[in-house]
Amino acid sequence: EARRQGRNGCVVYGSALGRGAMRRLQLEGALRRALAQSSFELHFQPQADLHTGALTGAEALLRWRDRDLGRIEPVEFIALAEDTGLITRIGTWVLENTCHQIRRWRDQGLDVPRIAINVSRLEIAQPDFVSGVLRTLVDHGLPGGTLTLELTEPALMHDVERLGQRLQALRAAGVRIAVDDFGSGYSSLARLSRLPLDELKIDRVFLATLQGNGAKVAAAVIGLGHTLGLRVVAEGVEREDQLDFLRRHGCDEFQGHLLSHPLDAATMGRLLGQARIQHRLVMDTASAPS
Ligand code: C2E
Ligand code: MG
Ligand code: MG
Ligand code: MG
Repeated sequence: EARRQGRNGCVVYGSALGRGAMRRLQLEGALRRALAQSSFELHFQPQADLHTGALTGAEALLRWRDRDLGRIEPVEFIALAEDTGLITRIGTWVLENTCHQIRRWRDQGLDVPRIAINVSRLEIAQPDFVSGVLRTLVDHGLPGGTLTLELTEPALMHDVERLGQRLQALRAAGVRIAVDDFGSGYSSLARLSRLPLDELKIDRVFLATLQGNGAKVAAAVIGLGHTLGLRVVAEGVEREDQLDFLRRHGCDEFQGHLLSHPLDAATMGRLLGQARIQHRLVMDTASAPS
């Protein structure tokens, strides 16, 4: 009995197609529609220097609200986009719209710090990825130094020679390369030491509780990053005790709800206006969660 008549007359595949599969189909259709209609939005989460409090950058984070399905979390739709191959088109949208936003802020006379975007392992694998990034920067009249690209460990698992060349070409243009969620994946230290990188972002799980081994790993990652000449950024910082810990261990920058939730572009723009005058970020700019 795989099928029975649904409430409004359509056939429901009760067991053949589980709820999970149904949700995926719905989401995939909605995701294609969202791409066609550009119904995504970018929010920006500030990052600050741990020692001076100065604004050092912001991470662009994708937001999506579907007309029918409501708000969908990136962890859900990014995974689906990777499975369906839609991620490369989404990545292009993110790159294009981030550069467009930076251009607008600059045209408003704002001092825009580096903006980081998340790059999927499937994007970096595209042969024309580097030329696409460089062309988009040029199209918006932006120097490479305006962007940081965040790669999670799975994105580092490609052929190390070719990946190294791609990253080096981006760095030569001034683009910074960060390893995101470091410590949560499987990248080897050999690989890490061979790739041309600028920044390590410590996965927030290591900072959740400061009593156990997690904090020891976080401290070791800070040391490792500095040994390799990288800047170390802590993410997901929510509490003062985490901030104290990071300061004591010489971490460079942080990001998290304690500093600010991700902000919509207008709010981020206002923050940039303030930062220009004060050049120091007030620690409680956090607005409504986004
Ligand atoms: P991520 O790159 O590690 O981004 C940081 C995530 O932590 C964001 O979740 C952010 O909202 C959240 N976060 C920030 N501060 C805190 C905090 O203090 N506490 C906690 N618990 N969480 C905090 P979000 O926006 O839901 O994104 C989740 C992931 O989805 C991102 O993790 C990234 O891997 C992916 N993602 C988001 N936007 C994009 C995108 O444009 N492209 C790609 N490829 N991936 C994206
Ligand atoms: Mg990230
Ligand atoms: Mg992260
Ligand atoms: Mg994460």
